[in-house]
Amino acid sequence: MDVDVVVIGGGAMGSAAAWQMSRRGRSVLLLEQFDEGHQLGASHGATRNFNTAYSEADYLDLVAEARILWDALAEETGRQLLDLVGLVNHGNLPRLRATRAAHKLRGIESYFLPASAAAERWKGMNFRGEVLVVPGAGRVRAAEALLALRQASEAHFQYSTPVRDIRVLAEESVVVVTDSQELTARNVVVTAGAWTNKVLGRMVRLPELVVTQEQPAHFLPLDDSLTWPSFNHNPDQDDPRDDYWYSPVYGMLTPGEGIKAGWHGVGPVMDPDARTFLPEPVQLEALVRYVREWLPGVDPESVVPISCTYTSTANEDFVLDRFGPVVVGAGFSGHGFKFTPAIGRVLADLVDGVQAPSRFSASRD
Ligand SMILES: Cc1cc2nc3c(=O)[nH]c(=O)nc-3n(C[C@H](O)[C@H](O)[C@H](O)COP(=O)(O)OP(=O)(O)OC[C@H]3O[C@@H](n4cnc5c(N)ncnc54)[C@H](O)[C@@H]3O)c2cc1C
Repeated sequence: MDVDVVVIGGGAMGSAAAWQMSRRGRSVLLLEQFDEGHQLGASHGATRNFNTAYSEADYLDLVAEARILWDALAEETGRQLLDLVGLVNHGNLPRLRATRAAHKLRGIESYFLPASAAAERWKGMNFRGEVLVVPGAGRVRAAEALLALRQASEAHFQYSTPVRDIRVLAEESVVVVTDSQELTARNVVVTAGAWTNKVLGRMVRLPELVVTQEQPAHFLPLDDSLTWPSFNHNPDQDDPRDDYWYSPVYGMLTPGEGIKAGWHGVGPVMDPDARTFLPEPVQLEALVRYVREWLPGVDPESVVPISCTYTSTANEDFVLDRFGPVVVGAGFSGHGFKFTPAIGRVLADLVDGVQAPSRFSASRD
């Protein structure tokens, strides 16, 4: 046995799994096909929303655990990982009421503000209806987080090493093949993002995973003194004024780059090895229109698109499951980053034979 565990993929989820397993004294080798800091997957860039506005118990459990682990990792590495600038949710009030009810049950602080009060407080944004404010939420410093996970991990990270094949020999024995080696391990953790289906082929049966090329963009603020929360904006049901929307919008401040805003999970379906890295122009134009209408504090003409991959399941639930010696973390559907350290814990538990909540099972209905 060369190592206890081979992790395939050095994005957020592979790095977190390697960190968690190495803390349990396992020998871990992480293999990443591209070089360190590449921008070809789903985890690059400076910021992600740390949004706790979920109503589902499984996600509220996971984000509460992630908050504790982000704080512990920040302390351990001396890096600031969270900016709790607050998060505002608006649009589709019935949905926000369900979130507030779930928060109330768990003692999570959130409260409604009338649109006028919210507009007074956040002068760079427009609001139509009541706004659900979550003070204990905000942003994750994504690039810092990846550095912190690697810094705190005892695992060995090997870059520019694509995995070509996985062969299962027994319940706790697997061979991982690269261009230059055949490695044996007790377990393999596959956190290959948009390449999950390519890495696993027909070895395991997963819910359908759809890879899209997403294209949020940064916009320059017109006044640097404006304060910006992170935000989620759902279209109001049956309101014709929102007909041009592609999906809900999310956004946040990325210090030094501007205000990020983006449609969610509606980018063109793409083979991760044959991407254009170019924004789809009609969608981008609609995003600029959104910004013109709803973010008066930024310059809509200053649009700088970002290119990134989502790997989505039909209902946006993650896949966290085990098949013999193979553990899989996939389908993070554009909302996984905030949970990263907790997902690392779930994947390490799966290696130790502890099941994940049934919601994340690959054989769910
Ligand atoms: C535009 C955008 C905005 C987002 N905003 C948010 C947000 O605000 N809040 C939030 O919580 N989440 C957000 N997300 C989601 C979040 O970023 C992802 O869920 C998360 O980064 C997924 O991490 P991953 O490790 O699964 O994927 P990746 O980071 O894609 O990692 C997979 C890695 O596997 C490697 N790999 C693949 N095949 C092989 C192979 N054969 N051999 C070796 N290595 C291989 C790849 O090169 C890659 O590095 C956003 C995502 C995008 C794209």
